[in-house]
Amino acid sequence: MEPLDRSTIWPYDERGEVRDYYYSRDGSPTLTAAERALGDLEGGQALLFPSGSGATTALALWLLQPGDTIAVAAGAYYGTAVTFSTLAKWGIRHVEFDQTGAPPDDVQLIWLEAPSNPFLTMPDLEAAAAHPAPVVVDSTVATPIFLRPLEHGADYALHSATKYLAGHDDALLGAVAGRDLADLKTFRTRTGISPAPDSAWLLSRGLKTLEIRVRRQTETATILAEKLRAHPRVQAVRYPGLSGLLSFDVETADAARRVETSTSLIVNATSLGGVTSVMESRARWEGDRVPPGLLRLSVGLEDPDALWADLQRALQ
Ligand code: PLP
Repeated sequence: MEPLDRSTIWPYDERGEVRDYYYSRDGSPTLTAAERALGDLEGGQALLFPSGSGATTALALWLLQPGDTIAVAAGAYYGTAVTFSTLAKWGIRHVEFDQTGAPPDDVQLIWLEAPSNPFLTMPDLEAAAAHPAPVVVDSTVATPIFLRPLEHGADYALHSATKYLAGHDDALLGAVAGRDLADLKTFRTRTGISPAPDSAWLLSRGLKTLEIRVRRQTETATILAEKLRAHPRVQAVRYPGLSGLLSFDVETADAARRVETSTSLIVNATSLGGVTSVMESRARWEGDRVPPGLLRLSVGLEDPDALWADLQRALQ
């Protein structure tokens, strides 16, 4: 592994000039190693932020000014709209739209999610790229293994690296990928939205197994989605066939609560993208934005038969 360098300062050179690294709010060798690895996977450059939400805030503040409007995919991660609502007092507005079609006119930023969490719709990337506004694709769930948004005309890919990229539920981190991020890096340094080296180091380690993890999680999720579709207590299954994230509905909120608290292998917790399977009823966070019986399942690396046995018992 690359060494973990926790220094906050590095000496100037023998002439007293600044070297590549001088103060860790600007960058560090540990950040650069992780950013290069992620940039290579995305086909561009990458910059890290202290969380996915921190990356969202930094990118929105950097790209927009008071009076601007963001068109955000309806049914995308509810926290993104919460972040945008929080920015409303600085004059940044947002409207929701159906990302499977063209974005509305007269917006200054388009925010897609591939696939959306927890509705699992895929955006129309071509329609978005034809719009004059810059396009951000939150591809946390697809990961660069299944989608490289920059190759589809997007201007930026965004990740909660807390999820699949780091992959082990032990690092809170965000990332933005783009073609030229020099100005965004300056913005990060000046606003101090800079991540800790320990999380970046865990990302570097996680990326080494990203492909093998998400391919296995996808195989298992495909099996489970098929079995769930055939189960009499399951009303709907959403699974686009990539990554380990799926959602399914049981009849009522009470039934969902009983199912999520009845598993033994699958942990009843939030988040997604880790090696451990987690499942939760999303109504607890998203209220009536989601069907009351919607359960979100993030499939980990456990044995598929053991996972199905656990789900079957819980549904029973
Ligand atoms: N984007 C998506 C799709 C997410 O699922 C999340 C978190 O759940 C975020 C962004 C926010 O990331 P973080 O929790 O790292 O701030």
